Amino acid sequence: MELARMQQLESLAGEYGAPLYVYDSTVIKNQYDRLLKAFKIVKNVKLNYACKANTNLNILKFFRSIGSGLDTVSIQEVQLGLLAGFKPKEIIYTPNGVSFDEIKQAVDLGVRINIDNLSILELFGHELNDYPVCIRINPHILAGGNANISVGHIDSKFGISIYQLPHIVRVVDNTGIKVEGIHMHTGSDILDVEVFLQGAEILFNAAKKFRNLDYIDFGSGFKVPYKEGDNETDIQYLGEKLGERFNEFEKEYDKELTLMFEPGKFLVSQSGFFLVSVNVVKQTISTVFAEVDSGFNHLIRPMFYNSYHNITNLSNPKGRPRFYTVVGYICETDTFGTNRKINEIKEGDILCFENAGAYCFSMSSNYNSRCKPAEILLLDGKAHLIRRREKLEDLLTTTEEISI
Ligand SMILES: *Cc1c(COP(=O)(O)O)cnc(C)c1O
Repeated sequence: MELARMQQLESLAGEYGAPLYVYDSTVIKNQYDRLLKAFKIVKNVKLNYACKANTNLNILKFFRSIGSGLDTVSIQEVQLGLLAGFKPKEIIYTPNGVSFDEIKQAVDLGVRINIDNLSILELFGHELNDYPVCIRINPHILAGGNANISVGHIDSKFGISIYQLPHIVRVVDNTGIKVEGIHMHTGSDILDVEVFLQGAEILFNAAKKFRNLDYIDFGSGFKVPYKEGDNETDIQYLGEKLGERFNEFEKEYDKELTLMFEPGKFLVSQSGFFLVSVNVVKQTISTVFAEVDSGFNHLIRPMFYNSYHNITNLSNPKGRPRFYTVVGYICETDTFGTNRKINEIKEGDILCFENAGAYCFSMSSNYNSRCKPAEILLLDGKAHLIRRREKLEDLLTTTEEISI
């Protein structure tokens, strides 16, 4: 991490206290532009930010301000999107396993609907066949490798299997449902662009079965580097290859189409920094623990997905590197990183977790009755508090106290 960045973050921790999430909107904008540019040979490209990665209303508003659409997975995310000022048609609702009632609420709000099972598709066709829908196909490809975060494989609960395409077509014909889009979301890490392109080919073939599509949505899965030597999805190459093929398909299909993506992690992960303060430095017979004022209540990815977040000591930029195991204060095992080389740590130092913009705050909880951190957004270099730190009263807002 650059020294200027370290100083900026440390001074924010001084001003707003720790633990603290900081997001830099410049990084978000760069990622957004980079992805759009990679697909510049395609006439109509639309990026819909998958907001489950980070649902702070101001982050949503920022995406709206740069021209993004929104990908949502719950009715509450749809409502947040509308509150952030997105027009209904700029929001696509891609739920899994939700009730037909919830889907009807989304229809009432006027957003785009993406259906991922035959049972609901049929119900939808019977009751609402004049409301256009998108259909989520599972092409059964694995473009990454980590089965925990891949959703395209054969046992996955997501999407309608490509092998059931004849059944989809029959439901569409029987009910007269209008199919405006077709979609796939194969998993979280596209490492092999060729495999992803095979999935796209399967989707193009399926698309030919529907005559009135407006868009083809290729989901997400853009990988970002978490540590030195990590690969990033080669978006330049993907943009050229998929872009060429898309243009060719558009001619075959003989109708103008929009190419859509719905990235979450790629757009926000690297914009985020999570700052914590070191409570205790504890020597044991095998390691030195740095115990910080946080835990999996604030950042669960290392424990949940075994994901790696780089950890830097902001308070000692020139310090001697030593090896630490960084753990939280939760009364369960909550190890952030084992045997990490970090500049010498003293109690009270501020540590920074990188790549903390996606699936960090949005997965946080109040476990151990701990309050959630504050959030800061850097906009044109200026810091804005976009969520205040929680306090005890916030933990009690939904409690109904009875006399006992
Ligand atoms: C979670 C999700 C995404 C975003 O995935 P990332 O790996 O964060 O880019 C996109 N589409 C759907 C349907 C999702 O559920």
